[in-house]
Amino acid sequence: MQTKYIFVTGGVVSSLGKGIISASIGKLLQARGYKVTIQKFDPYINVDPGTLNPYEHGECYVTADGFETDLDLGHYERFTDIRTTRNNSITTGRIYKTVIDRERRGDYLGKTIQVVPHITDEIKRRMLREDVKNEKPDFVITEVGGTIGDIESQPFLEAIRQLRCQLGRDVVCVHLTYVPYLKAADELKTKPTQHSVKELQSMGIQPDILVLRTERHLDDAMRLKVASFCNVELECVVQSEDMPSIYEVPVAMQRQGLDAAILRKIGIPVGETPAMLPWHDFLDKRRRASREVHVGLVGKYDLQDAYKSIRESLGLAGIYNDVKVCIHFVNSEEICADNVESKLRGMAGVLICPGFGQRGIDGKIVAAAYCRTHDIPTFGICLGMQMMVIEFARNVLGYKDADSAEMSHDTHHNVIDLMEEQKDITQMGGTMRLGAYDCELTKGSRACKAYEGKTKISERHRHRYEFNNSYKAEYEARGMKCVGINPDTNLVEIVEIPDLRWYIGTQFHPEYSSTVLHPHPLFMSFIKELINS
Ligand code: GLN
Repeated sequence: MQTKYIFVTGGVVSSLGKGIISASIGKLLQARGYKVTIQKFDPYINVDPGTLNPYEHGECYVTADGFETDLDLGHYERFTDIRTTRNNSITTGRIYKTVIDRERRGDYLGKTIQVVPHITDEIKRRMLREDVKNEKPDFVITEVGGTIGDIESQPFLEAIRQLRCQLGRDVVCVHLTYVPYLKAADELKTKPTQHSVKELQSMGIQPDILVLRTERHLDDAMRLKVASFCNVELECVVQSEDMPSIYEVPVAMQRQGLDAAILRKIGIPVGETPAMLPWHDFLDKRRRASREVHVGLVGKYDLQDAYKSIRESLGLAGIYNDVKVCIHFVNSEEICADNVESKLRGMAGVLICPGFGQRGIDGKIVAAAYCRTHDIPTFGICLGMQMMVIEFARNVLGYKDADSAEMSHDTHHNVIDLMEEQKDITQMGGTMRLGAYDCELTKGSRACKAYEGKTKISERHRHRYEFNNSYKAEYEARGMKCVGINPDTNLVEIVEIPDLRWYIGTQFHPEYSSTVLHPHPLFMSFIKELINS
């Protein structure tokens, strides 16, 4: 089959869940046996989101091939089990960088470089995904970040308009808008949707399908009104009501025939509706899970999206263990030795979050000490693992000034240190240890057991600093074991204290590879331990 292109845009307001809708479309088409890839175009100028503060853009997600991307790629992977790459996440900055580098090389010699056609051509080239041509995807789903009407989105919309002209029925445009409910009038309002579609039409794009985000059910009369005002067929007006979980969205979309509408628009026979049994089993399990287990999330960003993949991974592992994981954010900046007990009271387990910089690390160290000495199951991820290591050095090995070279340049005990290769790096963007690296597990270790006896794994990284191997023997002698080692570089990737119930720190980020149908083994093992308490 000739590759088809689905574009997902959004209007009225941001945060409507375009990423979830795009991921759901991907899931539904996959369920019909199609080969799908999903990508995100973000209109901001940063070359990638790697240098963005989580307050700006939530979590930075990392692909296996080592690219720092938008958190929506996490939704894509969790929903579809597709492994995304650096080519699935594009920003305006990246587009301009490619064009400007080419201009400097002299590739356009003699030409004036302009937004149209040079920037739009580069956008189109990436939208067409020539790089995966050999894999012959049936569908390329492209989500465009931002909201219709933003100045910075315009080149992307122009590229879509051109592609639609070029490819005709091989392109389908899905537009997501918002239908607000006005309490005082007790009415749902479609005017913002009408305006948003008008705006899109003024750019030469007629949406084929509208997905209306709403907090209240839209009746058929309302859908008909939108359909006729916006020039869209009635069965192509779908509503996306608030759901108890984002994982209900694919099923709700299938029920309303979103995937069938896409196929019809393209001219592909719709066929049977797939049963999606594993997905339904998962949802049933989720609905049934009533026992609660409480986990303290020790981090510095009091913001849902900042630890998105960790939150999802904990929740998914809970569902597969028939429990509802209640996550309690504990601000590490507010934790001190005097209050740690009350801050962590009632938590069956604690997860110490990743992060960068000094802010909030003292609280993480205090939390690690409390959990270690009170045998509370603890999962440290990246900076969280580094804080476990520092705490152990200070309080068990007796090196009171033990620290990470990231936090203190003059510590005598740099138990977490900068790798030689990192020392001359001056550029901040994209220069960390990024992406998937192999790791060998010690047979019989708790980590190895969590991975069901596997001794060779591969996990994704995003950090600059590492466990300092010159202290390894001392750690091991005193009870903190280095049970995951990179076979090529000898770097320590996992530490654990086998004498405790579950005290594991990973230098990598297991949360990036936990999916709905394949929850990550370490999260599974952590939750299992919490249930046993
Ligand atoms: N700041 C630490 C480092 O660069 C940890 C990074 C992280 O937690 N992702 O090594």
